[in-house]
Amino acid sequence: MKSKEHIGFNVPYFTGNETVYIKQAVDSCKISGDGMFTKKCHDFFEKKYGFKKVLLTTSCTDALEMAAILLNIQPGDEVIAPSYTFVSTVNAFVLRGAKIVFVDSGTQNPNMDVNKIEQLITKNTKVILPVHYAGIACDMDPIMTLADKYNLFVVEDAAQAIDSFYKGKPLGSIGHLAAFSFHETKNIISGEGGMLVINDEQFIERSEIIREKGTNRSQFFRGEVDKYGWVDIGSSFLPSDIIAAFLYAQLENLDKIQTRRKQIWNQYYEALKPLEEKGIQLPYIPDFATNNAHMFYLVCNSIEARTKLIDYLKSENIYSVFHYLSLHKSEYYKNQRDHRELPESDFYSDGLVRLPFYFSLSNKYVDVICSLIINYFKN
Ligand SMILES: *Cc1c(COP(=O)(O)O)cnc(C)c1O
Repeated sequence: MKSKEHIGFNVPYFTGNETVYIKQAVDSCKISGDGMFTKKCHDFFEKKYGFKKVLLTTSCTDALEMAAILLNIQPGDEVIAPSYTFVSTVNAFVLRGAKIVFVDSGTQNPNMDVNKIEQLITKNTKVILPVHYAGIACDMDPIMTLADKYNLFVVEDAAQAIDSFYKGKPLGSIGHLAAFSFHETKNIISGEGGMLVINDEQFIERSEIIREKGTNRSQFFRGEVDKYGWVDIGSSFLPSDIIAAFLYAQLENLDKIQTRRKQIWNQYYEALKPLEEKGIQLPYIPDFATNNAHMFYLVCNSIEARTKLIDYLKSENIYSVFHYLSLHKSEYYKNQRDHRELPESDFYSDGLVRLPFYFSLSNKYVDVICSLIINYFKN
């Protein structure tokens, strides 16, 4: 039952209109930031999800860096974030001098355990940083309640969470700020790319300035000021309109992309569900969350079991990959460790494996992959 062809982990999907829109951007002779296609993308997100204000950025990492600047993060400020996440989630705040206080994952999925946050809050805490892993919502109500109680800001790392919801609210619309990614490995892509969502109005004006090198250029182009100059710190966080043109073609096909990804996800889930009896954990979606089919993963009992599974699939020409390594144990964080154990984060670091997942993955291949895995665990 060997799958003769190589089944990669990720294959980017192109809708066909990307190059058409890029050509339009080029023909219009306006390819720097905030051109026609950037505005179309902004309108799309503000209308479809009711985000108060969105700004395309060159990556989710950049959007997170903007968030840290907007929140005036200073040396000594503390940020509570999961250990099981991508480095950018916390690096953006470390760049401004923040101390990261890691919180463990829950037992049912890798999202932060909301019951363990309050005990980590000190007088220096400024931000809670929930990461919606695999596009599945963190339990946002208790997080927002804590933020209110202790006067903290919430920044959602919604990099993987496009078109996903918490109790009917779009992810990215709940925290004061949120960051999305359009990296080639996400559901909706532009190669590299990202977006900052500003839900708290007090940050809107300054967010435009920080994104435009610390100048009030955006206000100038709207005719609100008669000259523009240096008014704040900032950097160049805005993408070229060529990237926005690419992204817009993807956004026009969002429903089509999501529909197919959900079919693939459901096919995996139905076929692999019996593995739960063998002690393999499948993705868990709480009642308050939706599934945006960002990825499909399994969690093995040990790093050895996972390595064997990955090697086995590789021998069948199927490429599965593990994911994050607990950041509290990372080389960079070594000297700042407080030596709290975060066993659930380590559990996902050791056991989680992501299966091939992309728009053009055929039902037949999903079937082959699932049959191989089921047979593998029979023995
Ligand atoms: C992909 C990802 C990022 C980084 O996104 P970029 O657009 O590549 O900067 C950050 N956080 C999480 C959780 C991600 O999955």
